[in-house]
Amino acid sequence: MRPSQVEGSCLVACAGLVLLLQAFGFSWAWALALGMGACLLRHLFQLVRLIRLLRRRHYLSPPFPWGLWGELYRTIARYQQGNRKRRKRQLRFQRRFREAAHSIPDALVVLDKRQRIEWANPAARELLNIHWPEDEGRRFTDCFDHPQLKAFLDTGEFNRPLDLLPNHNRALMLSLRVNPFGERKRQRLIVARDRTAVYHLNRIRRDFIANASHELRTPLTVLTGFLETLSDSPQTPAAHQRPLQLMSNQAERMRAIVEDLLTLSRLEMEDRSEDLVRVPVPEAIRAIAQEAEVLSRGRHALHWELDERLGLLANPGEIRSAFSNLIFNAVIHTPPGTRIQIRWHREEGAPVFTVADNGEGIPPEHIPRLTERFYRVDKARSRASGGTGLGLAIVNHILQRHDARLLIASELGQGSVFQCRFPPEAAVQL
Ligand code: ADP
Repeated sequence: MRPSQVEGSCLVACAGLVLLLQAFGFSWAWALALGMGACLLRHLFQLVRLIRLLRRRHYLSPPFPWGLWGELYRTIARYQQGNRKRRKRQLRFQRRFREAAHSIPDALVVLDKRQRIEWANPAARELLNIHWPEDEGRRFTDCFDHPQLKAFLDTGEFNRPLDLLPNHNRALMLSLRVNPFGERKRQRLIVARDRTAVYHLNRIRRDFIANASHELRTPLTVLTGFLETLSDSPQTPAAHQRPLQLMSNQAERMRAIVEDLLTLSRLEMEDRSEDLVRVPVPEAIRAIAQEAEVLSRGRHALHWELDERLGLLANPGEIRSAFSNLIFNAVIHTPPGTRIQIRWHREEGAPVFTVADNGEGIPPEHIPRLTERFYRVDKARSRASGGTGLGLAIVNHILQRHDARLLIASELGQGSVFQCRFPPEAAVQL
């Protein structure tokens, strides 16, 4: 029935009542007053009943009263049914979400806008010592107290995870990620992952490489010493000179590899570079370029363009090592006659070091892998030129420790560009 029809039938019932009362001898005025009074009473009764049912959160169900009130009851019942379905769906989703969050081995903690704990999964007990719901409403940093964490949260830069040993269990190694979300990104989702096994494996690998390289150093020094004595000795037959020379070259190559491996191990010890000082970069580049000219023996045309007032807040030894690796690579891996352009300048406030050459270039499939250890485009040629295959891995590590990035672009037959981009804060005026 449409509402207008319902309204009509109500009026008819009211008029019927007035006529009936009149038939019983009531005057028109009395019949009308009594009829309208009865209608009003019915409306009042239905209104009070409905309010009471809704207050008690009753789900309305048939039989419904007739007329307009019946229509109102039916409409409310339809809404209630829709709501009930939505709530059920929401509860199902909530249960599934909770089950999924409980099955995750990573600790998950949701913080509100004031960094107070709103929710945490069971893994947060073991990994972060956060007990939910007991710790609900407490500040995250009060429950998980760590000096590194406080500093990390204060910076507000969460693009990198924070690795730390928690105070409540020093045998654990955690990798903590902070993900801002919600209104104006003021809420936080903390994800802590247990990295203990990977951390130990990495340490074993690092220690093994460092120890093996260190152990190889002494025998190599002894070998090179004897080889030198033998080749310098007048008693050594002339026929032995060539094999002795080859042995010396190989021993020198091994020494270079051992030194590079030790450098890499040292760089891997810490994520960030210590001892940052003001480095007069133009002066350092000029010195490296002069060494590169000696290495090139006039076969390359070296040019440099340096911003003389631009220095860098960095570790001087590491910066020298990174820049010399790139400049020497341009000399070693390009044919005679190549033009090598070295540039040190600012780009949008950020200090940038560039080495560009117009050599043979590097095929595109090799570029993403160049910073891997021992990765060479042409193994035989690189070995012949005395390369260890570790140079770009060292450069990459050094730049990471300075929050800088290594960009490599190359085109076959056109040449290559190696660029180190430092953060603007690292720039200093000389
Ligand atoms: P290597 O000790 O062999 O120089 P690197 O890690 O420094 O090791 O370089 C990796 C490889 O990248 C090199 O073997 C070479 O094939 C390639 N390469 C590096 N610089 C250049 C360049 N300027 N032009 C062409 N190839 C290059």
